[in-house]
Amino acid sequence: GYYNHREALPVRRFIGGKVPLGLKRKGLRIVVTGGAGFVGSHLVDRLLARGDSVIVVDNFFTGKKENVMHHFGNPNFELIRHDVVEPLLLEVDQIYHLACPASPVHYKFNPVKTIKTNVVGTLNMLGLAKRVGARFLLTSTSEVYGDPLQHPQVETYWGNVNPIGVRSCYDEGKRTAETLTMDYHRGAHVEVRIARIFNTYGPRMCIDDGRVVSNFVAQALRKEPMTVYGDGKQTRSFQYVSDLVEGLMRLMEGEHVGPFNLGNPGEFTMLELAKVVQETIDPNARIEFRPNTEDDPHKRKPDITKAKELLGWEPKVSLRHGLPLMVSDFRKRIFGDQSTSDA
Ligand code: NAD
Ligand code: UDP
Ligand code: UDP
Repeated sequence: GYYNHREALPVRRFIGGKVPLGLKRKGLRIVVTGGAGFVGSHLVDRLLARGDSVIVVDNFFTGKKENVMHHFGNPNFELIRHDVVEPLLLEVDQIYHLACPASPVHYKFNPVKTIKTNVVGTLNMLGLAKRVGARFLLTSTSEVYGDPLQHPQVETYWGNVNPIGVRSCYDEGKRTAETLTMDYHRGAHVEVRIARIFNTYGPRMCIDDGRVVSNFVAQALRKEPMTVYGDGKQTRSFQYVSDLVEGLMRLMEGEHVGPFNLGNPGEFTMLELAKVVQETIDPNARIEFRPNTEDDPHKRKPDITKAKELLGWEPKVSLRHGLPLMVSDFRKRIFGDQSTSDA
């Protein structure tokens, strides 16, 4: 189905400029694709709190109604079940385009669908942005750097990506999404923003989505061994979700197209991460080694100089401070509310 919201005035042209006499600055109308997912739902919370109107577009592949249910009944909130691979008509001022599975387990589940979501889905949302003159933000990924030969990764690095591997549907899909975004910017003068997000964790992550932080936390809580893939010496840099949301909003509201790395430069091996989880949840939590997955990047750490300088942004929540916030959410969801009195 097509959705049409032609009634309201475009208000974007008033941002920063003079609001004509007699017209109060209205909130913006913002679409968040993938807004029922982990990152998207936290972004939606912040946008609604700021006074904007938010339309979430989600096909619920990995997202859940529960993540946004607390906004049902809010007249500034709408939820549309829609697959971005199909065209969509809306009248909005800004588009945060997040729709895409993010966990390797999910994006490998149907790789062709992942590519269609990244390519056709992004094309549709850019076509929408062009038609209504909306500003468009793409959530790209550190995976565009592949298994990087430069460390830490700077935005000017072109990456080391396998085009025919099992991760390619995601890596190459996001690279193409970035290309489309820049081509709509250059060719059709769409206002665009590109964020390259590094590993992010926090409340509302799918408990069984296979990503390392959610796996270790759920395993330690359930008294199962934490599964370390390979030798556990590969590194990642983990960002708490509120830091990411702040970065995305600053990027959208700022003047710069990007791409910008948004991540926490604190780098951990998987064995070090397991140790932090032990300290946070259970000092006796065990570790079990498993064979690693194909094409697993060996190292990853963002250089965030550009975001610091141009967006005035840097992460504030360290892994040791962020992890307990996620653990209490996981405790509630795994054991129910009763066992949270000690959390
Ligand atoms: P998520 O899986 O929780 O959220 C993705 C959302 O998109 C889900 O609600 C899902 O149902 C929806 N979706 C997927 N395909 C869709 C389609 N075809 N049409 C409509 N909706 C669709 O993942 P997340 O961690 O919240 O990731 C959000 C975005 O951030 C993704 O684009 C991801 O690539 C990017 N990102 C995330 C991380 C991270 O560590 N979380 C890192 C890099 C990039
Ligand atoms: N599109 C959309 N909503 C809109 C405008 C366009 O979903 O409001 C889709 C459209 O169906 C097309 C894509 O975006 O598949 C690209 O649109 P564009 O106008 O750039 O290209 P064209 O339609 O000329 O191929
Ligand atoms: N990993 C692990 N145990 C798990 C899940 C993942 O050791 O249970 C490792 C994985 O091999 C990778 C890192 O953790 O080196 C991050 O994996 P994740 O799937 O979270 O994200 P990626 O950065 O690979 O997209």
